[in-house]
Amino acid sequence: MVNLSAFIAFHARRRPMHTAIVYGEDRVSYRAFDQRIRRLAALLAQRGIGEGDVVALFMKNSPAFLEIAFAASHVGAVFLPVNFRLAADEVSYILADAGAKLLFVDEEFVTVCKLYQDVVVVDVRAQRDSRRLSDPDWPLPDVGPRRSDHLFRLMYTSGTTARPKGVMHSYENFYWKCMDHVIALNLTAEDRLLTVGPLYHVGAFDLPGVALLWQGGTLCVHREFDAEAALASIERHQLTCAWTAPVMLNQILAVENSERFDLSSLRWCIGGGEKTPESRIRDFTRVFTSGRYIDGYGLTESCSGDTLMEPGMEIEKIGSTGRALAHVEIRICDEEGRSLPANTEGEICLRGPKITRGYWNAPEKTAESFFCDWFRTGDIGHLDEDGFLYVTDRRKDMILTGAENVASSEVENIIYQLPQVAEAAVVGLPDERWGERMVAVVVLREGVSLSYSQLEAHCRKYLANFKVPKQLLISEGLPRNPSGKILKRKLREQYANEA
Ligand code: ATP
Repeated sequence: MVNLSAFIAFHARRRPMHTAIVYGEDRVSYRAFDQRIRRLAALLAQRGIGEGDVVALFMKNSPAFLEIAFAASHVGAVFLPVNFRLAADEVSYILADAGAKLLFVDEEFVTVCKLYQDVVVVDVRAQRDSRRLSDPDWPLPDVGPRRSDHLFRLMYTSGTTARPKGVMHSYENFYWKCMDHVIALNLTAEDRLLTVGPLYHVGAFDLPGVALLWQGGTLCVHREFDAEAALASIERHQLTCAWTAPVMLNQILAVENSERFDLSSLRWCIGGGEKTPESRIRDFTRVFTSGRYIDGYGLTESCSGDTLMEPGMEIEKIGSTGRALAHVEIRICDEEGRSLPANTEGEICLRGPKITRGYWNAPEKTAESFFCDWFRTGDIGHLDEDGFLYVTDRRKDMILTGAENVASSEVENIIYQLPQVAEAAVVGLPDERWGERMVAVVVLREGVSLSYSQLEAHCRKYLANFKVPKQLLISEGLPRNPSGKILKRKLREQYANEA
């Protein structure tokens, strides 16, 4: 039996009253979690859901999100978390592409989701209130054997670079991922994780969320992210670990008088999904004096977390996202898939049992994404002589200016050192003379100003001439995708005609 509910049942037998989920004032024990999963599974079976059927979730974070995902796995179905911030046509596309049969939605989304005609919409609250769910005599479905190559989840990529692709995740991917995260992070049943990222995203669900449940630990789930509430939860529940996107970390570090919170229980906080500015990594220990920041690199395609920075190396290897986890291999490849030596930039390729076997309904996209059994991430970077990975850019975001390649992240790191800068992104815009003209788009902190000559003087101190932006554009806010990542293609479109 490899389905996800098996390890919840295991912990429910061993430590029934141990807390699996904290949610506001609610505490869900492993026994209660296990019971709800089984009853929900019975409900799914009654609705005709079984082996291979796709059950979609259009929900904010809550215990119900996890219960439904685990119940789907219990009956052999595949769960499909959908980003609730997507536009209607994107959601329609994902539901149709995946062939979803049921769509679980929060009450607030019921009306809008009625638009999706080929799927049965289920209101989560009505379902949770159903008397059946608390009927101890209701027969539970008989679960057949599940093989490790069966799918447990379809997860669509955030669509930062193109139309979202349905990544297939098998049980094999899942269990190797859990193993790697448990080993690397020393997760135990006594750990308590702050879960403020959206559970529809691989970062919040997988890194290391479900790996902690696998170990019998506790998730402290917030419905939505709020920086002060996150700090208050760490203090109140003595949380030991956290995952945040860099954009959330920015807000946490900006909370005024954060010293009023006792944050001493926090061992570590992982950040990932995009580059964390180096200045923010240095700032981390100012607020979290006893915790450390772990930059981690990964993708939806690999169930996230392929590298994690090791304890004590954060500053010595600043700029790196750490070394590969136990069952991940990393290779830097040239355009033909040949392996490149240390300290040479190329495409980051991954191999190992936690990596997807491909995209749903898209054999040609799958074929394009592999060099034999090496998965092509589309990211550019290098490994140093000790095997530490440095992610410099996405292939599509590299700037080719005056015949020189520039990684935007290198320039952004320097710009972030300026105290006036709240957020920064560097992009290449079409230019007759330079091919691409490098432009810095900056969001300023309140009440300050920044001139181009100040920016230029600062960059010249640290960067070669060709890496100094040719122009400064002040913006009110950077366009981000629903997961909070900066959309550079939108920036390029927005400023394409800027003189
Ligand atoms: P799409 O593939 O649809 O464009 P996406 O790539 O944004 O969407 P995700 O799987 O959420 O989808 O993100 C993975 C990407 O995030 C990586 O390929 C990499 O570009 C970036 N990334 C993840 N972690 C880091 C990190 N620590 N530093 C820099 N970039 C990172």
